[in-house]
Amino acid sequence: MPFTSNETFRQIFQSSIEAIIMVDKEGRIILANPVSERMFGYEAGGLTGKYIEDLLPEHVRKRHVVYRNEFNEHPEPRPMGMGRDLVAKRRDSTEFPVSVSLSYTSIEGQIMVMAFISDMTERKRAEEALKRSEEQLLVYASELEKKVQSRTEDLNATIKELEKEVKVRKKAENEAQNALGRERELNELKSKFVSIASHEFRTPLSTVLSSASLIDQYNERLEKDKVKKHVQRIKSSVNHLTSILNDFLSLGKLEEGKIDVVKERIAAADFFKEVEEEINSTLKPGQHLVVRCEGAPEPIYSDVRILRNILFNLLSNASKYSDHGKPIYITCEVDEKTASFIIRDEGIGIPQEDQKHMFDRFFRASNAGNVQGTGLGLNIVKRYVELLGGNISFSSEYGKGSIFTIQIPVE
Ligand code: ADP
Repeated sequence: MPFTSNETFRQIFQSSIEAIIMVDKEGRIILANPVSERMFGYEAGGLTGKYIEDLLPEHVRKRHVVYRNEFNEHPEPRPMGMGRDLVAKRRDSTEFPVSVSLSYTSIEGQIMVMAFISDMTERKRAEEALKRSEEQLLVYASELEKKVQSRTEDLNATIKELEKEVKVRKKAENEAQNALGRERELNELKSKFVSIASHEFRTPLSTVLSSASLIDQYNERLEKDKVKKHVQRIKSSVNHLTSILNDFLSLGKLEEGKIDVVKERIAAADFFKEVEEEINSTLKPGQHLVVRCEGAPEPIYSDVRILRNILFNLLSNASKYSDHGKPIYITCEVDEKTASFIIRDEGIGIPQEDQKHMFDRFFRASNAGNVQGTGLGLNIVKRYVELLGGNISFSSEYGKGSIFTIQIPVE
């Protein structure tokens, strides 16, 4: 080797921060730089002449000799022990991890192998620490996940509880609101009653009074026809008063939800006869009822009081809003499931623009004029029909007449 190369080599060898050991074919150490001496715990020159296997733990030495011979046969620069953890041994027999790269040179025809050795202790320690902290991190993460899960469950349970609470409160609030609304309606109803009573009661009561005193006079003069006429007037005034009172009573009960539906078997023919007789006594002079209720199966099943009230209300409206002498028709169509009642008159009819309000409480059509009434009847009828599970509809032509149809289940 020329001097310069020699010198350069020596400088690299001495100043390298990596341990470099050169061995001959037999594995004897020819050169070892200061870093390698320090790494293995030898004094300066202490490694020269030793065998490379002396720097290995006992259990790998034999295998190493085989590897070394293989390398001598096919020398090429390469890292050593690919994929294996390499371990070296210090002078004091302590072991430490290393990584080794191999190279070779030839001096005077002899192959010299150079091993570049790095102490991997720190690196391994760092790797292990990293691994440990990664494992720890995984443990933390899984604990955290568990905590989050349990918190989420707690939170969900709390949310559910809260939702329940909100529902309970909402319900209570609604009930209170409803009660308040009902209370308000009843109060409104009461004050309306007072104002209607003071207005509507005056005419029939004064009729009763004047007819009664006239009857006295006609009695004395034995004018029987006139007496009869005034008795009739008293009767219809009292009927009218009774119907107003009945409407208010019904409405009060409906508002308070106090009307129980009591269904029973009703002998249809007898029932219609009774209604007919009752309504006949209230009709205006010359008015007559045309009943067509044939083929009704016997008996029908419904609430007799409510049904009577509905029919009575509709028939008396037909009479009230028709002239003297006009007919009133009632047709029944009853099968096993449904009873339909159609009440038709040839009276004053209902103006088109009023028709949408017909079932509103206290509503009276613009052509009701002097006909006595409170505007409660149809509202009550509708609510009664609904209580029986049925429905009501009507059609009317102003000046010509009206048809009211109700259908109720009678199974
Ligand atoms: P009321 O007869 O006491 O006024 P209702 O509730 O029974 O109250 O009827 C409401 C309004 O509907 C009546 O004021 C009247 O204007 C109109 N009405 C009801 N039935 C008839 C009918 N058969 N023909 C014409 N108008 C009617």
